[in-house]
Amino acid sequence: ADWAAAEALVRALPPTGRTLLICHVNPDGDALGSMLGFGLGLRQLGVRDVQATFPGPPEVPEPFRGLPGLDLLVPADAAEPAPDLVICFDAASVSRLGDLAGRLSTAGAALVLDHHASNPGFGTVNLVDPGAAATSVVAEQLLARLGVVVDSAIAECLYVALTTDTGSFRFEATTPAVHQMAARLLATGISPGDISRRVFDTRPFGAVRLFGEVLGRARLESSAAGGRGLVWTFATLDDLARHDQRPYVLEALIDSVRCTAEADVSCVVKQTRPAEWAVSMRSKGAVDVSRVAVALGGGGHTFAAGFTGRGSVEQVVDSIRGQLDAALIG
Ligand code: 5GP
Ligand code: MN
Ligand code: MN
Repeated sequence: ADWAAAEALVRALPPTGRTLLICHVNPDGDALGSMLGFGLGLRQLGVRDVQATFPGPPEVPEPFRGLPGLDLLVPADAAEPAPDLVICFDAASVSRLGDLAGRLSTAGAALVLDHHASNPGFGTVNLVDPGAAATSVVAEQLLARLGVVVDSAIAECLYVALTTDTGSFRFEATTPAVHQMAARLLATGISPGDISRRVFDTRPFGAVRLFGEVLGRARLESSAAGGRGLVWTFATLDDLARHDQRPYVLEALIDSVRCTAEADVSCVVKQTRPAEWAVSMRSKGAVDVSRVAVALGGGGHTFAAGFTGRGSVEQVVDSIRGQLDAALIG
């Protein structure tokens, strides 16, 4: 990671510099939190023209509608076409940037902040730390180098990013350094109870009923993955429509499915179009699901990965079954 070069890129921005912050499609807490927290930091440094955006539907998922810095957001089609600097957050590959990928070449320079091991480094300067629990860890370090004082607004953004990507400090990536960062953020006075309730523990009644239905059709295949077990379920556009729910409510479903004691690998197959599915996969350690995802055109981390599947649910699940044995660890 080239910290000095990254710092120089940001410091070279004049006060009139146009900066565009972008993150991956269907942004999660880390994508939005690291992007908006960094944007607020740039503002503090006196950079006046800062925009933030993401590809795809411009809607911010309800859990993140309390984030500070939302006023930085502009719709993707209204974003600066040729910024002086584009900064990219939490995107493992160019394809995760959708229609915004072109900004990487129209911008004066591109700075990439990320923590996916599979990131090829598609920026002019790349800060990619696979050892970081979240992109916000990288963002906090760069903000510190730039002399930004992390106030409570920036802290809330970075805290949301850190808690979402570590599963509220439950995942393996939860190092002493992660807790030390959390301590620094909490010391600014932010409220972990309020933030967690908003981000993790609030959903419409329709989503509760929808989860019941989708969990009720989960399937357990004990012999899959070399006998370590696979559990999976799916949700269709019709399920969403019947319960009057938006697609992002399904992001939390994998956390209920992956509890299954009898399965190492868990999957949720979420319909995005008639023959297109967004697949979330998790592993408890026996399978490298990023290998499954990469083989099927996606990416992610060893124990949390995803891809876009085509065809029927059965075809998508079959494609996963076909990759599990090759992805067994050790
Ligand atoms: P989630 O299941 O929470 O959507 O994603 C888990 C991990 O897999 C994230 O780190 C995310 O970057 C990655 N991921 C999910 N879907 C895709 C995809 O379609 N393509 C790629 N390259 N990565 C994905
Ligand atoms: Mn992400
Ligand atoms: Mn992340």
